[in-house]
Amino acid sequence: MNIAVRKPLLGSALSGFLGQNRKILIDGKWVQAQNGQTFEVEDPATQEIIAHVPLGDKADIDLAVAAARRAFDSGPWSRMSPGERSRIVWKLGDLLEKYADEFAELEALDNGKPVTNARKGDVQGSIEMFRYMAGWATRLNGETIQVSSPGNWHAYTLREPVGVVGQIIPWNFPLMMAAWKLAPALASGCTIVLKPAEQTPLSALRFGELIQEAGIPDGVVNIVTGFGETAGAALAAHPDVDKVAFTGSTEVGKIIVRAAAGNLKRVSLELGGKSPAIVFPDADLDLAIAGTADAIFYNQGQCCTAGSRLFAHKSVYDKVVAGVAAAAGKLKIGHGLDPTVNLGPLVSKEQHDRVKGFLDSGRKEGAEVVTGGKIAGNQGYFVEPTVLAKTNRDMRVVREEIFGPVVCVQSFDDDSLEAVAKFANDTEYGLQASVWTRNLKTAHMMARKIKAGTICINTHNYGDPAWPFGGYKQSGWGREMGKEVMEHYTETKSVAARL
Ligand code: NAD
Repeated sequence: MNIAVRKPLLGSALSGFLGQNRKILIDGKWVQAQNGQTFEVEDPATQEIIAHVPLGDKADIDLAVAAARRAFDSGPWSRMSPGERSRIVWKLGDLLEKYADEFAELEALDNGKPVTNARKGDVQGSIEMFRYMAGWATRLNGETIQVSSPGNWHAYTLREPVGVVGQIIPWNFPLMMAAWKLAPALASGCTIVLKPAEQTPLSALRFGELIQEAGIPDGVVNIVTGFGETAGAALAAHPDVDKVAFTGSTEVGKIIVRAAAGNLKRVSLELGGKSPAIVFPDADLDLAIAGTADAIFYNQGQCCTAGSRLFAHKSVYDKVVAGVAAAAGKLKIGHGLDPTVNLGPLVSKEQHDRVKGFLDSGRKEGAEVVTGGKIAGNQGYFVEPTVLAKTNRDMRVVREEIFGPVVCVQSFDDDSLEAVAKFANDTEYGLQASVWTRNLKTAHMMARKIKAGTICINTHNYGDPAWPFGGYKQSGWGREMGKEVMEHYTETKSVAARL
């Protein structure tokens, strides 16, 4: 398979950013890690080192949490007028728009994703997230409560920011995951310590510059780069952090819950998935084939919502398998900075080895490799887009989250929606499902029967700042986005006055 890996031509803004020594943001100042050490950041398409960033650990997290605490208690952000806070959060969206191309290139270089997707998806989605959440800053109202003996009492609630928030984010959508977490926390008046993933720290550090440009007071947003077991663990366990928000693997999610137990900090988790995409016999097959192919190959399959279990009715199974395989064949693989590329490398060697292990396991367990099935090229972390047919519920590739461009197809011939939902629900995860049909009743009945936090009808990997997002079962706790997320960043205080 041909891979178009060429040395990217960096825009001057990007090469300027990469050319400087990167620092972490604590209390409004860019500083080295306390231990003076750095770690390397790699371009996953070429394996070249593109930057060095501070190796933050517990000492830096302690300083960052102390700064966030001072900023919260002294109140320049939490007590700012909601309208002013709203204006500044909106401005973050405007600034992202101003530097959108630079951010898209940074994501393509650091994560490997195609720059066109980064611009339309990651960066645009982040801009919209700040604009949507800016509105919530002025809409956090308490309520007047009708108590049982209303004559003598005036009872009401206040909504207050939860306090100092630790945010630990993954590498698959580095900027967008930062936006999903920072925007509601800022809108509600919290202060923040953000730890980006060690594989992709660059866009968060660049975003720190926008935090300052927008006029957010010192200490309100602190950004510490470092590894999960050190910096991440220190943040999750920190006794002066009021809430931790995490996106990443289910395995680490469970570690976060245990670490948070020390001071019973609030926890929200957005974890893994093994999302079903179900094609019914009456589906618009052109739409379903293009959509289910995109459901798994978008972002190299590194989406927590990826449509990794594809169920096709027996009557359309052959067409769906052939169609998705043909769509895989049309993808141009190469360096994410090439605007004509639509499948970049996986993010890291670790992820490359992991996906290769799953491909070997699928083959050994008897899956039919319709297309792909191998790592691609001899430089960078590329994997061929892969369709595994004739898979079944007992195979490891069907049970575990692969997080690569690998879809497992199964056929079904049962026409009862109950039975189809049972296949879809046969997983420990419950993040997203898609249903492909022209029949409204089938679509909406399936939406009720599937145990997942988000259901897509004739689409997949859908997301919008106003659309609550999160998982059932081991896909997480709580919801991000929409009005639901504001529950996580505020406490409700009940007040009762005897009249
Ligand atoms: P991970 O869960 O280890 O990392 C996610 C974030 O958690 C990173 O910032 C990391 O530094 C931090 N972290 C790791 N260990 C920690 C700890 N002990 N305490 C606190 N923070 C910690 O994910 P990964 O190892 O990079 O990827 C492994 C698998 O996780 C992937 O193959 C995929 O299945 C899944 N994953 C899911 C998502 C998602 O969006 N749901 C994102 C990334 C990875």
